[in-house]
Amino acid sequence: MNIVKFVFNPLQENTFVVWDESLECIIIDAGNASAEEHDRLAAFIAEQKLKPVMAVNTHGHFDHILGVKFLKDKYGVKFALSAKDDYLRTTATESFSMFCSGKVESVPEIDIDLETIDSIHFGNTELKIIRTPGHTPGGVCLLHQQSQQMFTGDTLFRESIGRSDLPGGDYSTLMHSILENLIPLGDEITIYPGHSEKSTIGHESLYNPFVVEAINGEIRF
Ligand SMILES: [Zn+2]
Repeated sequence: MNIVKFVFNPLQENTFVVWDESLECIIIDAGNASAEEHDRLAAFIAEQKLKPVMAVNTHGHFDHILGVKFLKDKYGVKFALSAKDDYLRTTATESFSMFCSGKVESVPEIDIDLETIDSIHFGNTELKIIRTPGHTPGGVCLLHQQSQQMFTGDTLFRESIGRSDLPGGDYSTLMHSILENLIPLGDEITIYPGHSEKSTIGHESLYNPFVVEAINGEIRF
């Protein structure tokens, strides 16, 4: 499985292009939000001769979702997101204008509700859906079991965790998701978060202050 990261929009969001030997690809958290960013993404896809089949989202926050319309218009991809985050999809352009200047188009409707399936498929590859609510109600992580790689969105970052104070967020739910659904997957797993650099579950178990204080029982959640 091949993974290439782009950093898009003023919130420095990580967008991942993921493909296998079939050259079918998915775009995880398409945050491309300007003509220049659309062009950069499309040029890469053309260069690598990839065939985009799906835009998949770990959650519905605007900085992760604004590129979906471009991908749908250009490639006819299906759009996969939890319906529990649909309230974020419909307000994404408003939210963008509160944080950033410029105008963006509205986000298309969901084609595939991630709440109704356990894995997504493209080419010869399967990604398992791990439900991790807390940053948003419909948040998920996407695990490739064979290569032990996982996309964690804004649930788990390198040495940090996602915010739980935004509408729909909940700290207790977020910590339960991380400690019960992610940490037990094993130290060897490489994580690709929605912002900043990659890490491993092993590193986070030892050095992520939010995880460590929870594991040590220093906080109630
Ligand atoms: Zn987010």
